[in-house]
Amino acid sequence: MNDGEINSGVAYPAPSGSSFHASEDRAPAVTPDTLGGLRARHGHRDGAELIAALREEFGDRFGVISSFGIESAVLLDLVASVDKAIPVIFLDTNELYDETHAYKAQLEAHLGLTNIRQILPSDAELTEAEELWRSDTDRCCHLRKVLPLQRAAQGFSVLADGRKRFHGANRATLSTFERGSMDIIKVSPLARWSEDEIRQHFESRGLPAHPLAAQGFRSVGCWPCSRAALPGEGPRDGRWAGKAKAECGIHELVDAAHMSSEL
Ligand code: SF4
Repeated sequence: MNDGEINSGVAYPAPSGSSFHASEDRAPAVTPDTLGGLRARHGHRDGAELIAALREEFGDRFGVISSFGIESAVLLDLVASVDKAIPVIFLDTNELYDETHAYKAQLEAHLGLTNIRQILPSDAELTEAEELWRSDTDRCCHLRKVLPLQRAAQGFSVLADGRKRFHGANRATLSTFERGSMDIIKVSPLARWSEDEIRQHFESRGLPAHPLAAQGFRSVGCWPCSRAALPGEGPRDGRWAGKAKAECGIHELVDAAHMSSEL
């Protein structure tokens, strides 16, 4: 296990090296009004401006989820531009491509991120999940992603991710703010960014590409369930190709009523 890896639900280390020193009274608990309040205060923001506002408001109760996939460098670059010590949760399913681990190390060094938390499933979850992707992908994702994230998310009020509307399917109507499971607010600072804006940010910032991008991958997750995109396919058609499944479950909402006031 590498430094920073976390297994079996062991509590993660306290953030260190942060330029932000949050106090408890600056980390309000999530209430039914939190989502509406966030939309009212920050609904006009996105990108780095939104990340900075959430860091200021929630301190270390604000974190980011990253797969270190094909587009991840953009969100992580914006995070680093705000504060390199913002917690970044990296779900290591134990079935990721070697190229993703190499890219994670490359981006960590390139961007100077200091608080990446590499989260692994527990030994029991790995035992049950072994080759489960062949027969039950939903259960496999639950064991390798959802349950580890539930443990890793303890202590957070707001988690940001890199989903965008141009990914299509059920992301086409993605809200910037959503109420996720565990009473955590999910924020997608790039929800309204176009694919062209993502490409332009890569170029203008000189960000390194994921090694599998050169092989045609437009989205990358676990090796058994992701492949390069075929001509004419959408950004995520290479994920669980041939199956009805489109999401792993970590972005599941529990309170759809709060999605009605879209921003
Ligand atoms: S993406 Fe595939 S291998 Fe990875 S957790 Fe989900 S079903 Fe399992």
